Amino acid sequence: MNASEQVCDDCAARCDALDAHVQCVACEGLLHIYHPQPPTCGPALQALFDTRLMPARGPRGTGSGDSGVWRFRELVMPGAPDSDLVTQGEGLTPLLHRERIAQWVGVDDLLIKHEGHNPTGSFKDRGMTVAITQARRINATAVACASTGNTSAALASYASLAGLRALVLVPAGKVAMGKLSQTIAYGAQTLLVRGDFDDCLRLARESSEQLGVYLANSINPWRLEGQKTIIFDLLQQLRWESPDWLVLPAGNLGNTAAFGAALREARRLGLIARAPRLACVQAAGSAPFAASFREHFATRHTVRAETVATAIRIGDPASYDRAVRAIRETDGIVLSVTDDEILEAKAVVDGSGVGCEPASAASVAGARSLVRSGIIPPSARVVALLTGHMLKDPEVMLAYHRDTTPLPTYANRSIEIEPTLAAIERVLRVQPVAG
Ligand SMILES: *Cc1c(COP(=O)(O)O)cnc(C)c1O
Ligand SMILES: [Zn+2]
Repeated sequence: MNASEQVCDDCAARCDALDAHVQCVACEGLLHIYHPQPPTCGPALQALFDTRLMPARGPRGTGSGDSGVWRFRELVMPGAPDSDLVTQGEGLTPLLHRERIAQWVGVDDLLIKHEGHNPTGSFKDRGMTVAITQARRINATAVACASTGNTSAALASYASLAGLRALVLVPAGKVAMGKLSQTIAYGAQTLLVRGDFDDCLRLARESSEQLGVYLANSINPWRLEGQKTIIFDLLQQLRWESPDWLVLPAGNLGNTAAFGAALREARRLGLIARAPRLACVQAAGSAPFAASFREHFATRHTVRAETVATAIRIGDPASYDRAVRAIRETDGIVLSVTDDEILEAKAVVDGSGVGCEPASAASVAGARSLVRSGIIPPSARVVALLTGHMLKDPEVMLAYHRDTTPLPTYANRSIEIEPTLAAIERVLRVQPVAG
């Protein structure tokens, strides 16, 4: 069954699901995937997805039962046989409640959807399992991407699982240590480009056209199909009841676009009765989408991006048009938070035992800002998305607790001591250990 098709956003030209282009050949527009109607809808489709939640037998990563992506395969890539799937049990990420984070944000009913629990430590695995499965289906021999770090780590891992060569372009000196070391260690050919992310993206596009390498960048339509499953996974955990708000970090706007599409489908197929309102949070130094939102999307802005949250340091987001549609359809909003607010939110999330990377904390900082300004009422059910694992960016984390002057509110100083009991006693006298 190959009835899925790739359709151009701009000119509506259609091509086969197994066509290797990731942009429209007629007009270079972005492609989206059109799937045939699933076999059932409403409660029967919910039940189908629920039966697949049964504990998997056998090793992980061998089929759809133990993946939080392939469990929803009818809505992701219905044509792929089990034998083609390149999977390692991605998705199925926890939905957490932590009193301390909820209090800091100012709502009782705050839930944390933690995508840092994916195999390579970010939600990018959800898109990559689908894109690399597609690469295998079209018999690609090599795959490439430009990345701020997490995409390259995910690409390197999944390409390695599939036995494909991987080419990664990252801005030299601008990638967090955890992400860069993963990419190299998983075995990707890693090119450190003397330029920014936008230069890397241009180079990746050009090399894919001229060298015949399959492009697994965020414009790859199959990646967004995989990212839709953050929504399906979440809704299933909430027994198909939408929260009032879903707050997420926004950089290249892939998730915003994917969430819009997923919520549209979930409503159309009768999986949910209403959608949550989306709140997209950008870093103040990289907030072109927030600037457009303030003008009711009258103009598309681009900026020279700067922020401590490298995963959302993007000045010209690729999925702009689709993200606009997602915000309009969900009565959503877009806001920005400062780097200081991001780091403070991160310290609260980390200190609660949950932990996340800097970009992820933008959602928690944004939720707090929306509660303070009265847009989110304290009685609302809010889900904040954490996009990446805390070990992705150890340098920023250590700098916050060690090197910043004056020391920030939530800094936790470590203390060097002589190897004696007396030294420990001295420390405990000054800073008693909490009972
Ligand atoms: C890629 C990434 C983002 C940005 O998501 P978009 O879909 O590009 O808006 C945010 N956080 C982390 C950790 C990421 O890796
Ligand atoms: Zn087109």
